[in-house]
Amino acid sequence: SAETTQFDAVVIGSGPGGEGAAMQLVKNGRRVAMIEKYASLGGGCTHWGTIPSKALRHSVSRLIEFNANPLFTAGCGHRSMSFADILRHAQGVIQQQVQMRSGFYQRNGVTVLHGVASFEGENKLKLTQADGSVDYITTKQIVIATGSRPYRPADVDFNHARIYDSDTVLSLKHEPRSIIIYGAGVIGCEYASIFRGLGVKVDLINTRERLLSFLDAEISDALSYHLRNSGVVIRHNEEYERIEGHEDGVTLYTQSGKRLDADCLLYANGRSGNIEELKVENVGLQPNHRGQLEVSAQYQTSVANIYAVGDIIGYPSLASAAYDQGRICATAMCFGDCEQRLISDIPTGIYTIPEISSVGKTEEELTQQKVPYEVGRAHFKDLARAQISSMAVGSLKLLFHRETKEVLGIHCFGERAAEIIHIGQAIMEQKHGGNTIEYFVNTTFNYPTMAEAYRVAALNGLNRIRD
Ligand code: FAD
Repeated sequence: SAETTQFDAVVIGSGPGGEGAAMQLVKNGRRVAMIEKYASLGGGCTHWGTIPSKALRHSVSRLIEFNANPLFTAGCGHRSMSFADILRHAQGVIQQQVQMRSGFYQRNGVTVLHGVASFEGENKLKLTQADGSVDYITTKQIVIATGSRPYRPADVDFNHARIYDSDTVLSLKHEPRSIIIYGAGVIGCEYASIFRGLGVKVDLINTRERLLSFLDAEISDALSYHLRNSGVVIRHNEEYERIEGHEDGVTLYTQSGKRLDADCLLYANGRSGNIEELKVENVGLQPNHRGQLEVSAQYQTSVANIYAVGDIIGYPSLASAAYDQGRICATAMCFGDCEQRLISDIPTGIYTIPEISSVGKTEEELTQQKVPYEVGRAHFKDLARAQISSMAVGSLKLLFHRETKEVLGIHCFGERAAEIIHIGQAIMEQKHGGNTIEYFVNTTFNYPTMAEAYRVAALNGLNRIRD
C-alpha cells in the first residue's frame, strides 16, 4: 500500500543540478529527499554525458600523443585501440563517480529514493518504482533537475542497430570503420575527435555555416583547421533529406543532393528537456517546445515553491553551471531573495582534440560593442614546456582594453586549455584594478609551464600598443 512521507525539500534528478541543490539544502539544515529514476546516481552527466565522453577523449588523446612520438614508438611501432578498449576505462570512471555519490549522500543524510517522480499537486509527488509500486511524498519545496536527453526527430529510426545518439553510442557493439556524425555542436565535434583519433573515417555534418559559432572566430577556424588536418571531413550548411539504415551500414541523403555512406551514424543535433514524466501540467507549469521551464534569476518557476535548475532550464546546459545553479537555488529556497548569482562570464570548456576553452568577450563582440581592444598572443610552440611535452599545437589569446589594460576575454586552444583558462579567469574577476594584463608581466611563473603563455601573450599585447 502507498505510503506518504514528509520532507522539507525534494530534489528530482541526481545529476549535477540536483546534487548542488541537495547538498546545499542539507547544509542549511533541511530534511531532503532526492528522487532518481535510474538505479544508479549521477545523472546523464555521469552515465551518458560529460564523464564518459571526457574519459573516452582522454584515452584517445594519449594514444595520439604516443603514436606521434618516435621515442615511444621506436621498437614497438604504432599502437591502436578499439572503441571497446576505451569504453572500459570510461566505465571504470563512471563506477567510481557513482560510488562516491552514494557515499556522500548517505554521510550527509540525503534520503535517496529510486523511481519516476510526477506531480500530484504543488506539495505532493507520486513516486512510481521500477516494479510498478507507488508511493506519495509530501514536501514544502521541490527542485526539478531532470536534465535533458538527445533530441530524436520522428523520421530517423533510432531503433536501427547502426543509428545512434550520444546516449546509445556508449553501447556501440561493432568497431566502425566509418561514421557520419550529424550535428556539429559541442557533442558532435567532441565525438568527431574521439572517432578520428581511433582511426575511424569521419564525416561531420554541420547544419550551420561555421563550427561552434559562439566561439571567437579565430578559435573556431583553428578547430576546423585541426579537425580537417586530422582527416575529419566537415560539411557545412548541410541538412539531411533522409537517413536510411541498412543491414551493413547507413546512408544519408543531404538536402543539397549528396549521398553519404558509412558503417554507422551518430545523430547529435539538439537536446530536449526531460519533462513529460513529471506531469508539470498538474501544477500549471508550461514548458516551451524544447521541454524547458522558465525560471527567475533565483531559479524559481511560476509556482512559488517549485524551482528548476540544470539542462531543464536551457542555456548554458553545462554540468559546471548546473551544479552552481543548484547551490544558488538552495540558498534562495532557504533564505529568500539573496545576492548570490551565477557569475556572468561562465567559462566554456570544449574537449575536442585540440581542446578549447574561453571566458569573456570574443573579438567579434568587442568590435560590435565598439570597445577599443588589443590582442596579445602566445603560441604554444614557443613555450619550453610545450616543446618538452610535445604540446606544440595551440595558442593563448588575450583580449584587453587598450587604455585600462583590463582583461576582456581569453581564448585558448591546445592540450590543457580547459585548465589553463582558469588562471586568466581568476585575474579577470579581480576588483579594484587587479584585472589587468600587467599582472601577467609582473608576477613570477614557474618555469617551464604552460601557464607562462599568459606572460608571453601579455608582453606581445603590450608591444602592440607601444608600436
Ligand atoms: P542530468 O545530468 O541529465 O541528470 C538528470 C537526472 O534526472 C537523470 O539521472 C534522470 O534519470 C533523472 N530524471 C529525469 N526525469 C526524472 C523523473 N521524472 N523522476 C526521477 N528522476 C528523473 N557539460 C559540461 O559542463 N562539460 C562537458 O564536458 C560536457 N560534456 C557533455 C558531453 C555529452 C555527450 C553530453 C550529452 C553532455 C555534456 N555536458 C557537458 C552537459 C552536461 O552533461 C549537462 O549539462 C548536465 O548533465 C546537466 O545536469 P542536470 O543535473 O540538469 O541533468
